[in-house]
Formats: sequence, structure tokens, C-alpha cells
Amino acid sequence: MMQTVQQIETIAELRRQLREPRRQGRRIGFVPTMGYLHEGHLSLVNEAKKHCDLVVMSIFVNPLQFGPNEDFDRYPRDLERDLQLAASVGVDMVFTPSVAEMYPQQVKTNVSVAGVSEPLCGRSRPGHFDGVATVVLKLLQIVQPDYAFFGQKDAQQVAVVEQMVQDLSVPVKIVPCPIVREADGLAMSSRNVYLNPEERKQATVLFRSLQLAKQRLAGGEELESIRDEIVRSIQAEPLADIDYVELLRYPDLAQLDSVEKGERVLVALAVRFGKTRLIDNMMVTV
Ligand code: AMP
Repeated sequence: MMQTVQQIETIAELRRQLREPRRQGRRIGFVPTMGYLHEGHLSLVNEAKKHCDLVVMSIFVNPLQFGPNEDFDRYPRDLERDLQLAASVGVDMVFTPSVAEMYPQQVKTNVSVAGVSEPLCGRSRPGHFDGVATVVLKLLQIVQPDYAFFGQKDAQQVAVVEQMVQDLSVPVKIVPCPIVREADGLAMSSRNVYLNPEERKQATVLFRSLQLAKQRLAGGEELESIRDEIVRSIQAEPLADIDYVELLRYPDLAQLDSVEKGERVLVALAVRFGKTRLIDNMMVTV
């Protein structure tokens, strides 16, 4: 039998549809996405199904989190395919608002999380995490889920959302989920479709470098020399153009001079291949 999923385009309609299940005490899980779904997104749904009775997914390419020279206009979109995939894994409702539905007038309220938003992608993409925090808070207000599921693929985003939820007492449990990878280690991402075959091949250097970093951390090597080695290993791929390579303390993303035993280190990479900027990371408990 074909599974179907309910597609809802307006805030008012989604709130109305959630009223009865909420009254019945059904646990609501929420999976926010920008669509063009892949196994990474579907793994969040599978996790949500374990904790919740009803799963809401949003598909919304949020203009607030894209910079002026970024890929908002060409971000990949395929709603029909997304709805089928969402149905196949048992999503109950897919919320697909237009930009005008989400932002009918110029947004004057901006959620800005200091500290964790500042390094890594915060430095390379000014305003990005304000856009993320603002849309995530808005979506949480609309859906009012019991649980919300985020991928560790965007580890800094998880840190930003967790900080925001704590600071603003948002009544939701944030559940971070592991990174899903292709067979050759490349982290799944909607942006991988931008890569040409040669870029795609060289992009495996990200995962290889992260594994190398993990080995070196386990071996007790100095952070600076680990970082240098990762930079060299990425630069060995001719099409790779490094945005950042950093080893930071998790979850506060503070600079580290050295590591203590038991400390969690986030090894985070952002690398351009042609016009495509890829990010990846690994959490290592030393
Ligand atoms: P996006 O559509 O890229 O905004 O991603 C929506 C959600 O899926 C975010 O919480 C991402 O961290 C998560 N996600 C994206 N790619 C992956 C992946 N490869 N593994 C796990 N989660 C992912």
C-alpha cells in the first residue's frame, strides 16, 4: 500500500491539525529540514519515531540563514520526491510553508546566540546562525513539539539550538543524532549534488582527515601539529580549498591549547570544492 503524508502549507492549519493529537497527549516529534531529503534526514525521522507518537517534518529553505552571495536561489529542491520519501519513513505531517507564509513582513526580531555562534561557520558566514536560531525558534513556536531532532552533521547548529533552548526556556527536548555517511565516508548533504565527479572523488578527503585527527588525538599528539597534518592532507587534493580546520572544546566551542583526558574535542572542517562548500566534523572523547 502506498503510504501518504499530510502536506500542510500554513501556520494556522498546522496548529489546527496538532490541537487534537496534543490534547490526547500524543508525543509530538519535530524534524526541521531544508528538503532535498537524503538518508541523513530520514535517520532523524527514524529516531523521532522511537520517541514520539506523531512526527512533523518541516521543509523550508530559510532565506534568513543565507548570505547575499550564497546559494539560496540555487539550493536544490524537489518537493514531490521529498513527500514520497517522508511518507515512506512514516512522517505524519510535512509542513511546507512559503517564504511569504513564514515572513509576511520584514522580520524585526532576531535571535542571536553569543559565544557558540561565533567561531567556525559563524566566522565564515556572518549572520548565518542568527537566521538559524530565529527560524528554529519560530518553528518550535509553531509546532510546539515535545522533542526536536537535529543532526550532528551540523554540530555547531546543535550547540546553538541547545544554548537557545536553555536560555529561553523553550519547552522541548533537543535530540542530537549521528552523522549518516555515504559508503566512502562522505557525509550526506543536499549540497553533494553540486559536486562534479572529480570533486566528488576528492571530497572523501574530509572523512579521511577526520579519522586521521581521531587517531592522532588518541595518540596524545599536540593539537597544533594535528591541525597542521590535517591541513596538509586536505591540501594534497588539488581541488580542495580550505575554509577552516579547527579543533575546539565541545559543547562551548572554546579554543583549546591542550586537551585533558575525558574532554570532548570537536574536529570541524569546512572545505570548498569549486563553488560547493562542504562541512564535516567528528566528536572525539580524548
Ligand atoms: P538541512 O536540510 O541540511 O538543513 O538538514 C536538516 C537536518 O538534517 C539538520 O538537523 C541536519 O543536521 C540533519 N542532517 C543533514 N545531513 C545529515 C547527515 N548526513 N547525517 C545526519 N543528519 C544530517
